[in-house]
Amino acid sequence: MSNNKVVIIGGGPAGLEAARTVSDLGYAAVLIEKRQRLGGTPDEEQYAKLTHHFRDAAEAMDEMVAAASGPGVQVLTHTQVTSVEGEAGNFRLTVQNGGAPQTLEAGALILATGFKHFDPGRETQYYNYYTYPDVITIADLEGMLKAHKVVRLSNGETPKRVAFIQCVGSRDRQIGNEYCSKVCCGIASKQAIEIRQLLPDTQVFIFYIDMRMYGYWENELYWPAQEQYKVNYVKGLASEILAKGDRLLIRGEDTTMSRPMEVLVDLVVLSVGMEPSDGTREMARLLGLTQNKYGYIAAGGPGGLDPVATSRPGVFVVGAAAGPADMDDSIATAGLAAARAVALLRRQA
Ligand SMILES: Cc1cc2nc3c(=O)[nH]c(=O)nc-3n(C[C@H](O)[C@H](O)[C@H](O)COP(=O)(O)OP(=O)(O)OC[C@H]3O[C@@H](n4cnc5c(N)ncnc54)[C@H](O)[C@@H]3O)c2cc1C
Ligand code: SF4
Repeated sequence: MSNNKVVIIGGGPAGLEAARTVSDLGYAAVLIEKRQRLGGTPDEEQYAKLTHHFRDAAEAMDEMVAAASGPGVQVLTHTQVTSVEGEAGNFRLTVQNGGAPQTLEAGALILATGFKHFDPGRETQYYNYYTYPDVITIADLEGMLKAHKVVRLSNGETPKRVAFIQCVGSRDRQIGNEYCSKVCCGIASKQAIEIRQLLPDTQVFIFYIDMRMYGYWENELYWPAQEQYKVNYVKGLASEILAKGDRLLIRGEDTTMSRPMEVLVDLVVLSVGMEPSDGTREMARLLGLTQNKYGYIAAGGPGGLDPVATSRPGVFVVGAAAGPADMDDSIATAGLAAARAVALLRRQA
């Protein structure tokens, strides 16, 4: 007989939704998170507002945490899995939270260990992220927007000209991340709107290879950014950022006009892409799961049509642990994995 519990590893949007759905389906869920707090990267990185409804991110995450906090869900924060034995229907996990190791039993596992931001110092040194304080990332900007204070870190002044550079660490064969990170075009457009709302006298530019707006983000973000908020979208490749006086000079190529481009700005925002989190890589090793060439958990199953199946029966993957994903993707795959996990327990009961 199988164990009737589902253990979910990772307490971000995907893990929270998986725990809630398992519990709603009448089965016991154990949610393991290595941080002290639930809420995943949106909580850890202090996101301000979410696409596509401009919802307050903290409020949205609190709502998800509350929904996953029913009696059917046991939450273990500050906890890490150190070993997993057994097979579908009967897994035995050892977990550690500072005290003596504990053993947990589970019929199925859901991996929701998420992503981390691309480190813009890695092989894209020409953007000088670690050299110039006025070169920041979209994650850094979320924190500023949350504090309603977008300033140049070099001197505390309000920037008059802000430029976003898209595809930093994504769609880049040289660094080996050929994939698109899916969310950064929408996030940059959302942040550009928020800057224009906060600082109406500040000009905002977005330098892009091509804008990849996702579903309804096209009409909810891209067109309002251009038409209502007068954000300047420039099809261009930025090749380096240099200091010029106390400002920053972006050098590159305007690819529409096929000519060199030089733009002087006060603040540069790098639209860094996604990479698998360290926890995703660690858990893949611990569970013996196949990873793709980028380190994400290989998903899809033999026919490629099961986005939550991993190479190990009884272990499902959800959210950004399987590849770049927005919140909708993460929540949708979490619900599917919860249904698959419960179906497995019911088959084996
Ligand atoms: C700057 C930025 C802004 C964004 N804004 C939006 C937005 O506005 N709208 C939108 O739809 N999407 C947005 N996204 C994407 C969104 O953040 C992701 O879709 C979402 O966070 C993915 O959820 P997840 O649960 O899969 O992973 P995560 O949010 O990364 O959560 C993973 C969780 O697992 C935990 N964990 C990791 N390893 C372990 C381990 N070994 N053991 C236990 N726990 C572990 C982590 O601590 C973390 O809590 C944004 C992304 C970026 C880069
Ligand atoms: S979403 Fe946009 S910025 Fe992000 S990798 Fe894709 S094309 Fe580049």
